[in-house]
Amino acid sequence: MNLNESTKIAIIGAGASGIFTAIQIKELDPSISVCIYEEGSRPLKKVKISGGGRCNVTHHQFDTQVLSEKYPRGHKELRGPFTQFQPLDMVAWLKKHGVDTKFESDGRIFPVTNSSESIIECFLHEIKKHRILIHYHHPVENISYSKSDHEFKIEFNGKNPQTCSHLVLSTGSSKTGHRLAKALGHKITELAPSLFTFKVSDPRLQDLAGISFQDVGLQLEIQKKKFTERGPLLITHWGLSGPALIRLSAWAARELQDNQYQANLKINFFPDYKEDALFNYLLEYKKENAKKKLSKLTFTKTMSKRYWLQLLEHLQISSNKLWSELSKKEIYKLIADCNQASFRVQGKGIFKEEFVTCGGISRKEIDFKTMMSKKQKKLFATGELLDIDGITGGFNFQNAWTSAYLVAHAIQSK
Ligand SMILES: Cc1cc2nc3c(=O)[nH]c(=O)nc-3n(C[C@H](O)[C@H](O)[C@H](O)COP(=O)(O)OP(=O)(O)OC[C@H]3O[C@@H](n4cnc5c(N)ncnc54)[C@H](O)[C@@H]3O)c2cc1C
Repeated sequence: MNLNESTKIAIIGAGASGIFTAIQIKELDPSISVCIYEEGSRPLKKVKISGGGRCNVTHHQFDTQVLSEKYPRGHKELRGPFTQFQPLDMVAWLKKHGVDTKFESDGRIFPVTNSSESIIECFLHEIKKHRILIHYHHPVENISYSKSDHEFKIEFNGKNPQTCSHLVLSTGSSKTGHRLAKALGHKITELAPSLFTFKVSDPRLQDLAGISFQDVGLQLEIQKKKFTERGPLLITHWGLSGPALIRLSAWAARELQDNQYQANLKINFFPDYKEDALFNYLLEYKKENAKKKLSKLTFTKTMSKRYWLQLLEHLQISSNKLWSELSKKEIYKLIADCNQASFRVQGKGIFKEEFVTCGGISRKEIDFKTMMSKKQKKLFATGELLDIDGITGGFNFQNAWTSAYLVAHAIQSK
């Protein structure tokens, strides 16, 4: 792209991807004029609250092929971009700019301070250093492109219009952002919430809020479609949550919305055992613990004692019974509820752990080498505004950082 004095870049949105785009552009060429228009009064609002205030900034997955598989929408398109800028690059960038990071056993990467403020301070320091102007209270209402003047006209609610030669849309999941993209010729794919908990009301879960299981197998059935996940599960006041379940909500986001959040969930509390193997395990257990009460199952990471007791009650099997007294029929009953425990999902939880929007600018309309629109030259889009979203774990921010990096490099390349 030819850069000259008339190159003036406007970014709409001072969120994660907008701010990172501005910094990247200036790092590559400090002489370029870049400004950001933000409707709110503060930058990086979501970064601040992200990861429970700790900011799960990216994920410890440096194999770009495996990394791209963490995106229910966008996995094919992100393969190329991740070869340009991936979590390892973000970690290195943060380190170079004074933010040390650490990763946790599940792969999530956080600043060592455990505070999103470290990321915000770092970004704002760079914004100041490069003298990037952020115009707060500038809600963009309309954008048009003048072919004769080769520039975009940006109109605000109650402010003077501005022009620019290159425009970056970084408006996240905002409705206005979708409207602006549409006005510039883009299709917005069907929108649906992603990364949420499930509302489940079931006697087996009653009064067990807070109980967690370290490793369960999950299978969600919606109409004839099946979605699977494995990992930690948590019982809440409302129903079910935990990393594995929230990831499941991402894979099935559209189908769940289409089915008014009604689905059947099967939980396997012993995911390493098939039905036969679990039957043999319990038979063996019965032999070895014949004189012990049923309440005394050696509780592994897969089964919580309180849940087990509640399950026995639900199945009308006395927990005072000895293992030797347990009939084969009862073992089968137990297996059905341990291996294929069926729960009715009755709605979407209201607790927003990490909430992201599925859907946005159609991926077909974006060149993923540059993040430039195929509909309008010199128009770019980043982050959540695109029809791209990841499962929980830092993947959504990585999409923001990678798309920002590509825009900056595309604008620089001559
Ligand atoms: C509670 C919560 C926790 C999260 N935690 C994590 C996490 O730990 N890890 C992770 O990877 N992801 C997390 N996410 C998701 C992540 O925050 C987003 O995917 C990411 O912020 C998207 O970046 P973005 O730049 O595309 O959009 P945003 O960060 O949403 O920024 C968009 C900006 O554009 C502005 N804007 C919108 N419309 C206009 C307009 N018309 N004119 C001017 N300005 C406008 C908005 O005010 C906003 O500042 C979390 C999300 C939530 C809600």
